Amino acid sequence: MSYPIEQVRRDFPLLTREVNGQPLAYLDSAASAQKPQAVIEREVEFYRHGYAAVHRGIHSLSAEATQQMEAVREQAARFINAASAEEIVFVKGTTEGINLVANSYGSLLQPGDSVIITEMEHHANIVPWQMLAQARGVTLRVWPLQPDGTLDVADLPGLIDDRTRLLAITQVSNVLGTVNPLQEIITQAHAAGVKVLVDGAQAVMHQQVDVQALDCDFYVFSGHKLYGPSGIGILYGKAALLQQMPPWEGGGSMIQQVSLTQGTTYAEAPWRFEAGSPNTAGIMGLGAALNYVSQLGLAQIQQYEQALMQYAQEALQQVPQLRIYGPAQRAGVIAFNLGDHHAYDVGSFLDQYGIAIRTGHHCAMPLMAFYQVPSMCRASLAMYNTREEVDRLVAGLQRIQRLLG
Ligand code: PMP
Repeated sequence: MSYPIEQVRRDFPLLTREVNGQPLAYLDSAASAQKPQAVIEREVEFYRHGYAAVHRGIHSLSAEATQQMEAVREQAARFINAASAEEIVFVKGTTEGINLVANSYGSLLQPGDSVIITEMEHHANIVPWQMLAQARGVTLRVWPLQPDGTLDVADLPGLIDDRTRLLAITQVSNVLGTVNPLQEIITQAHAAGVKVLVDGAQAVMHQQVDVQALDCDFYVFSGHKLYGPSGIGILYGKAALLQQMPPWEGGGSMIQQVSLTQGTTYAEAPWRFEAGSPNTAGIMGLGAALNYVSQLGLAQIQQYEQALMQYAQEALQQVPQLRIYGPAQRAGVIAFNLGDHHAYDVGSFLDQYGIAIRTGHHCAMPLMAFYQVPSMCRASLAMYNTREEVDRLVAGLQRIQRLLG
């Protein structure tokens, strides 16, 4: 079956918009993806017909909303092939998921223990570990990048010693598109007794993820990059780990008993990590997004996107003085600079042509430092992008090159 690109585009109402008098070419999905009608409708329908507080009331509406929320937990478990829904924690997004692990699992670490991150991480997978290092005397080690934007797996043993507890690593770089060889990395880390947290923010929309096959200990992703609502994400943790981790935030819904004299006991995981009223509409919308992507199938999406990426890489060769960063084998994003022109200038010109890309440091300042540039342009390719949009990007860059010299 050929990929139903026209149908897919019709499913995303925003893609029909004009920007600056031009049809929109939305090439910024790695920052945040557009939403299909099914996601928008699910949220509206929940507010219109199904809304109530979850977990608390015995009235029918509340019970229904709770049941629907728990059904999305099961759906999320199936989506990444977790062994059970109890390994799925609802969080605001990748950032909150990593902070949860850094604060909760991190509180079990001792001064002198070490955590490894890589030089290609998003700030969301750097700063929480720096904060943990400062608070608990944990050492932070950095796995250096190679000039082509990949990691050398042979470097890993040299970073690990008997006090190394965790490796926190992205599956796909949000700047370079590098796909890290997680299977090999996780096997090596586990052999040395090191747990692994995977930042899946830039991976789940491009390929099928199987947390049991990967055998990672934690896996985190955001709904809004997966065509779902903003403000909702998933933290997966192996059941045995989550059960031994203390709560991070305290409040309603995460307790068993609260007494002013006897102290407080906590709910089981995952509810122990979900203090307060959750983003229920976001959870329903996420369920619709998981459905949408699953119906089309990630294998088919991946095949389409890979061909489009190949096309884009070849087409961009036609732009003089364009420097592309990262390896040829990449997923989702393509980062570049045009001659010595500042990324903001390039991005502003493209915006005038109706082409939306991301410019700046991409929340990866250490990576900018590695390449010795203040900023980059980044075009992302999602399930609804086309060759025609890539052609417009190439033509736009050629035009800027002519205008600016
Ligand atoms: N990690 C990576 C690799 C990302 O690309 C992003 C989003 N740019 C994040 C983490 C943070 O995600 P969020 O802002 O949704 O929490």
